[in-house]
Amino acid sequence: MSRACVVGGGAVGLATAHRLACDGWDVDVLDPTPGRGASWVAGGMLAPTAEAWAGEEALTELGLAAAVVWPEFAAAVAADAGTDVGWSSHGTLVAARDADDAAALTQLATLHRTWGLHSERLTARDARRLEPALGPTTRGALWLPDDHQVDNRRLVEALVAACAGRGVRLVAARAAAVGPGRVEADDGSAIEAELVVVASGAWRVPIVGAGDDAIPVRPVKGQILRVQATDRAVFPHHTVRGLGVYVIPRPHGEIAIGATVEERGYDTTVTAGAVHELLRDAWELLPGLAEATFVEAIAGLRPGTPDNLPIVGPVPGVPGVVAATGHHRNGILLAPLTAALVGALAGGTWTGPGPDAARLLASCDPARFPAGAGDGVTP
Ligand SMILES: Cc1cc2nc3c(=O)[nH]c(=O)nc-3n(C[C@H](O)[C@H](O)[C@H](O)COP(=O)(O)OP(=O)(O)OC[C@H]3O[C@@H](n4cnc5c(N)ncnc54)[C@H](O)[C@@H]3O)c2cc1C
Repeated sequence: MSRACVVGGGAVGLATAHRLACDGWDVDVLDPTPGRGASWVAGGMLAPTAEAWAGEEALTELGLAAAVVWPEFAAAVAADAGTDVGWSSHGTLVAARDADDAAALTQLATLHRTWGLHSERLTARDARRLEPALGPTTRGALWLPDDHQVDNRRLVEALVAACAGRGVRLVAARAAAVGPGRVEADDGSAIEAELVVVASGAWRVPIVGAGDDAIPVRPVKGQILRVQATDRAVFPHHTVRGLGVYVIPRPHGEIAIGATVEERGYDTTVTAGAVHELLRDAWELLPGLAEATFVEAIAGLRPGTPDNLPIVGPVPGVPGVVAATGHHRNGILLAPLTAALVGALAGGTWTGPGPDAARLLASCDPARFPAGAGDGVTP
């Protein structure tokens, strides 16, 4: 049996390890704190339509492809883990609070129409009929029936269990360096493997035979809140997005409110200003949230890239080493697609949508960056 070592046990690394194990690889995942990086902090939106931005068509194409594989991925992980992953398909509303928001919604609706994305303009009255928790000042909304969500914490826990069920070994160590056929851990041990997958999120791992910028990721800080609604009347039934905030209801009354986007290096402090702004903006959308119990404020580091596209594919000049990182704002959405792409690169059957992986891999190719493309941020 061929051996693979995945460096980093976030949603991306664990989904990839699970895929490889399903394809018959003998897999180790190296991570001192698996599942506690950005994947633990995230909101869990699976939102290719709401995340569509002008100029980022390739990213939208990846997101839509990922949305196609999500239901099957959720079922496969749940079957191996013996527990569901918390996937739900209740759709997303993008709501306008004032005239400026309403103008921005018009632009968004035009982009959706141009790109053939599924969205529907709602009057304020129809929006409140669909989502009674919306505030009285709502100026209309866009309904995105194909944008779903997953409970990201349940997902990573289910992935750990599913990996264990497939014989994947979780090694609680940090990789000090990777290279062709070998991963060196910071405790002095080493793992020999034909395939090495670098899935260490916002953290760079030295690659023997490649420059510091071979995988030019940088940390993009995000602060997010969690509250608990005890009264069903204040509980939104859909993910509700404003233009600067989103509110995601989960079963059992938990509600996530996110998120800031900050260039602060590896800083993960929670600031009073961010908590204030997120609560204020969420409360303006859904006034009933004022009654919810405050549970948590937390910050995480998205793996950003120079062009906002992920970095998935062979690391140039380093045989047997594959990158699977740089998923920035969409790593939960893109985790199963990334796993399918790495599985195909490793010689497995293509399990993603469409005839083959080539077109999707082209937009994620690590070789697209010129030397020195990274910004040199180090932990
Ligand atoms: C506030 C916030 C909200 C977000 N909301 C969403 C959302 O709604 N939807 C969405 O799709 N995405 C969202 N994201 C983005 C998403 O969380 C990330 O893109 C995704 O989690 C990246 O997954 P990952 O596995 O690459 O990284 P991580 O989850 O960060 O995992 C990387 C792992 O690598 C390990 N590691 C690092 N260095 C080493 C090393 N040297 N050796 C071994 N292990 C190492 C770390 O311990 C960590 O466990 C959000 C992010 C944030 C911060």
